[in-house]
Amino acid sequence: MKRIIFALLHGVGVTRLAAWWNRKRVIILCYHGVTERGTRGPTDPHGIHVPRPLFESQLDYLRSRYHVVSLRDYLAARREGRKLPDYSVVLTFDDGFRNFLTAAAPCLARRKMPASIFIITNNTAEGGDPGPDRAWTPADDRTHLSWGEVRALVSGQDIEVGSHTCSHTRLPALSPEETGRELRDSYAAVVENLGGAPPALSYPKGEYSAVLSRLARATGYACAVTADGGANDPARTDPFALGRTLIGDKDGGAAFAVRVSGVRDWLARLGSIFSPRAPGASSARAEDAPLPAAGSAENL
Ligand SMILES: [Zn+2]
Repeated sequence: MKRIIFALLHGVGVTRLAAWWNRKRVIILCYHGVTERGTRGPTDPHGIHVPRPLFESQLDYLRSRYHVVSLRDYLAARREGRKLPDYSVVLTFDDGFRNFLTAAAPCLARRKMPASIFIITNNTAEGGDPGPDRAWTPADDRTHLSWGEVRALVSGQDIEVGSHTCSHTRLPALSPEETGRELRDSYAAVVENLGGAPPALSYPKGEYSAVLSRLARATGYACAVTADGGANDPARTDPFALGRTLIGDKDGGAAFAVRVSGVRDWLARLGSIFSPRAPGASSARAEDAPLPAAGSAENL
C-alpha cells in the first residue's frame, strides 16, 4: 500500500516539489552496507545491506538530480558561510562493514562520488593493505574493515572516516565516564591511525541528547550525525545533531526518490502534529530497528 502511495507521490511530482523545497538544505543519507547478494541474507533481517545493482541505480538517480558533496565540504561551507550547490546530498555509511570496500567503494569511485564511513573502532582490527583482490564475499556483509583496508580506501578515493564510538554501545545507557571514554578513545584511534582533520561522529543507534552533543563538541569532533530524518539547514541545524535519512534494501525507484526529496519529513512533521514525541529520544528506534516500509510517517 505504501509503495503505491509513494509511486503516486513520485508520479504526480510531489517528490520534485519537495526536493525543490529542500534545495537549499542538505540531505544526508545513511547507509550501512552494499551487498552482491541478490536477496536479503539470513544475517541481515532488517535489510540494511543494499543490493549493489539497486545501489548503483540510486547513485545514478542522485547524479541526475542532485549534487553529491562530502561531509567535509558541507562543514567548510557552513563555517565560511559559503553556499553549496542547490540539491546537495551527503553519503554516509555506518558500522564499517567490509562490503563497503568490496561492493560500495568501486561504485562510488566510478562516479567520483565522496562518502563518509563511520567505524566502530573496537571492531577495526589491525591489518595490512587489502591488496588488489577486493572481490566481494558473503562474509563481507557481517565482518568489518581493518585499519589497513580503511587506509587503502582513504588513499584511493574521496572517503572520509568518522567514529561510531569504540563499542557501538547505546551512549545514554552509559555513565558519564564511560561515555567520555567511548568518545575520546574512538576519536584518538581514528586520528592515530589516519591522522588528518578532526573526525565526525555518528551516535550509535542514532541516540543522542543535548548533553551528548555538547560532549561530542568538547571532545573535538568536527560534527555529529543522528538518525533523525530531516534536511539540514546550513544556518539553523545543530552541527552536532545533523539529521540523516535511512536507506535500506527496499528503497528502489519512487521510495528512494521520496526518501531523498524530504517528502517523508513533511509527512513526519504532519505525523508529529498528531502524536508529538520527545526530541532525540525516539531516534533510537531508527538506526538498528527494522527499516520501516518506505513512506509511512508513523514508522519514523
Ligand atoms: Zn551503527
